[in-house]
Amino acid sequence: MKRVVVAGAGISGLSLAFELERLGVSVLVLESDRRAGGKIETDRCDGYICERGPASYLDRHNSITPLARHLGIEGRVLPASAAGERRLVVADGRLHDTPLDAAAFLRSRLLPWSAKLRMLADLFLPRGSSARGQEESVTAFASRRLGAQAGERLLQPLVSGLYAGDPDVVSLPAAFPLMAALEREHRSLVLGMRADLKQQRAKRQAASDAPRLSSFVSGLDELTTALASKLGDRLRLGARVAQVERVAAGFRLAVDEGGRSSTLDADALVLAIPAHQACAVVQPLDSDLSEILTRIPYVPVALVHLGYFASALPEPADAYGFFVPASQHLKILGAIFASAIFPDRAPAGFSLFSVRTGGARHPETASLPDEELTALAHADLRGLLGLTAPPAFAHIARHERALPQYTLGHMDRVAALEAGERRYPGLYFHGNAYHNAGVPELVSRSGKLARRLAEELAR
Ligand SMILES: Cc1cc2nc3c(=O)[nH]c(=O)nc-3n(C[C@H](O)[C@H](O)[C@H](O)COP(=O)(O)OP(=O)(O)OC[C@H]3O[C@@H](n4cnc5c(N)ncnc54)[C@H](O)[C@@H]3O)c2cc1C
Repeated sequence: MKRVVVAGAGISGLSLAFELERLGVSVLVLESDRRAGGKIETDRCDGYICERGPASYLDRHNSITPLARHLGIEGRVLPASAAGERRLVVADGRLHDTPLDAAAFLRSRLLPWSAKLRMLADLFLPRGSSARGQEESVTAFASRRLGAQAGERLLQPLVSGLYAGDPDVVSLPAAFPLMAALEREHRSLVLGMRADLKQQRAKRQAASDAPRLSSFVSGLDELTTALASKLGDRLRLGARVAQVERVAAGFRLAVDEGGRSSTLDADALVLAIPAHQACAVVQPLDSDLSEILTRIPYVPVALVHLGYFASALPEPADAYGFFVPASQHLKILGAIFASAIFPDRAPAGFSLFSVRTGGARHPETASLPDEELTALAHADLRGLLGLTAPPAFAHIARHERALPQYTLGHMDRVAALEAGERRYPGLYFHGNAYHNAGVPELVSRSGKLARRLAEELAR
């Protein structure tokens, strides 16, 4: 029987392996770390639940719900409270709601009238380069369609929120293909977003199982723990794929397990590991592919979880959280109001916030000593929320290379990697470095890749 080796037991590798098993394909997952889950990791301390990586997901592709069902953990899915619907943005040093309809937009003080009027030009402007599939930065796209100020306050925060990236260099069609599609299909971004929102609302009214922001009862790592346990001995921890070479029957892998080296043959190899790791693995096979992988940059992120007595908040923090546009003089990138979305994330009588720092804009912040980082996160949060007391709890999670950046030229890089896959049939690049970093999108891609692989191996 042909065997697939998957390198990397993050959500991409785990969900792919699980799907391959369900399709009857023999699979082995090799993970360099001593634990499975990759960026998904949940810490539980002092009654708080702190997510070191992702905290929630919106199952737009209906991929996590069926996966949870197959794993027998559907009952553990935890939908967010209504607060999860409300997104805030910092402007002029204050928090503002992101307006979701025309009336709210007109009432909103997020933008001055001059910027609102400029936004109306979007209704008449022709399609631009993103609609034609050409790359342009998020800043260029946002300024072209909505004007500089509206773009900065409405679109740039998305780059911060999803990629901790720099909107001047992140590619709009690579990082936000939906936005490029809205321009392509509706010409006007405003009209396109309105139509998309209407569609989402109609879906939500029509179906009780329409996508809702969710997590799992005791944290997102319930999902990866369940996947790892289903895989059992088809998952080998502490096993780093060091190198790959082509052999007649497929691929020969050099594997390093605690300093012990061995080789392993596979009919197909999926590299579900970060691009900055994959480059060394493929170097002996193809130095051009390796070089392309090194050109996918990563940024550091530190998440500072701060717990406060509820009485320290002048008013309840009933929102998903806020994003900070680049023009605001704050060192943090934003914060998620963790216990407002999922109340059990903090003990009764306390509130938990997850403050995001670092990213492309302030990479140096992510490596500040714990005390300085906590003080900085608290100071920015206090300024915005009017907190009247210091935190009663602090917890820090750091990632030196947290998130890949889809910078200008990314689509060409991905096309070159796909050409590499065609040059070496049986080799696949999977994971968040290429098409999307969201957990549901990665699980959805795993499903598609598993079906493709099963078909190709059966030939
Ligand atoms: C701080 C933060 C917050 C986020 N928030 C959200 C969110 O709220 N919602 C959302 O949907 N997404 C979020 N994301 C994005 C999402 O978490 C990631 O994109 C996703 O978890 C990546 O999964 P992956 O399997 O592709 O990669 P990873 O999780 O990075 O897994 C790769 C695995 O490969 C292993 N590995 C590396 N090299 C080797 C090797 N040579 N051999 C074997 N194994 C190797 C690693 O140890 C790791 O376990 C967030 C990410 C971060 C960092």
